Amino acid sequence: MPELPELQAHAERLSADFSGAVLAGFGPITFTALKTFRPDPSEAAGTILAGFGRRGKYLLIEAGPITFVVHLMQGGRLRPDDKQSAKPRGGIARWTFEDGRALLLTEPGTERRAGVWVVAGDIETQDPILGLGPDADTLDGAGWTVVLAQRSGRLHGVLRDQHAVAGVGRRLANEICHRAKLSPFANASKLAPDQVAILAAAVRECIAESLAAERAQTEMVKSAERGGIHHGAGQPCPRCGDVLRTVEYRTYTVVYCPTCQTGGKVLANNTTSKFLK
Ligand SMILES: [Zn+2]
Repeated sequence: MPELPELQAHAERLSADFSGAVLAGFGPITFTALKTFRPDPSEAAGTILAGFGRRGKYLLIEAGPITFVVHLMQGGRLRPDDKQSAKPRGGIARWTFEDGRALLLTEPGTERRAGVWVVAGDIETQDPILGLGPDADTLDGAGWTVVLAQRSGRLHGVLRDQHAVAGVGRRLANEICHRAKLSPFANASKLAPDQVAILAAAVRECIAESLAAERAQTEMVKSAERGGIHHGAGQPCPRCGDVLRTVEYRTYTVVYCPTCQTGGKVLANNTTSKFLK
């Protein structure tokens, strides 16, 4: 699933192309595309698009009194729609502009989980943004101390918990833990102050590097093309040369370097290990 850097770069590209365009209309294509009943999205018609933003893993389209909050899920994309066909392949929803252009939200396959919330007023107090933690790129050491204080789960899980901190997913969680030389299985609430400071710096660096790489792309690439620790299982650790190991879960894989992160311990590759610390 695209994470903070990918979505940030996506929003910046969309802003460069579509900011200032006058919205003509918005139309869901599938039954599940529109997640809200009111306000009526037609209230945004005729407004000049202020731009595209991002909050957590959501794209924001700011159109006058309305913010369209878009979740791409796994493979969703928001792209210029030159054909504007009646039944576009994978089409979820479409925004049309008075200059004749359009943007199409697509999602491959049959999952149909991507969607659009139409929100008026403060998005922070309404679904789906309500309850999100602070964006990961806004936190300093003190901010991380607050985020981690009450969360006794494993660090990797807390990093991916959007209610704790927004924008980090499976890939960045692996990169951040490796960068910080912290065990992904450490109890998040028990990190020492110096470890929290190292974590904060690692988050900043990982996001900045990913963002720079994404800004060099003309569109969002597939996760596998991003490389890094997340896709490095079985390969040598780029820092120490030890073999990168994995612990597989049903919906994600933790990739780590035993030498750098777990005091040399190789963890059993299942979820029932008692000694994961
Ligand atoms: Zn290593």
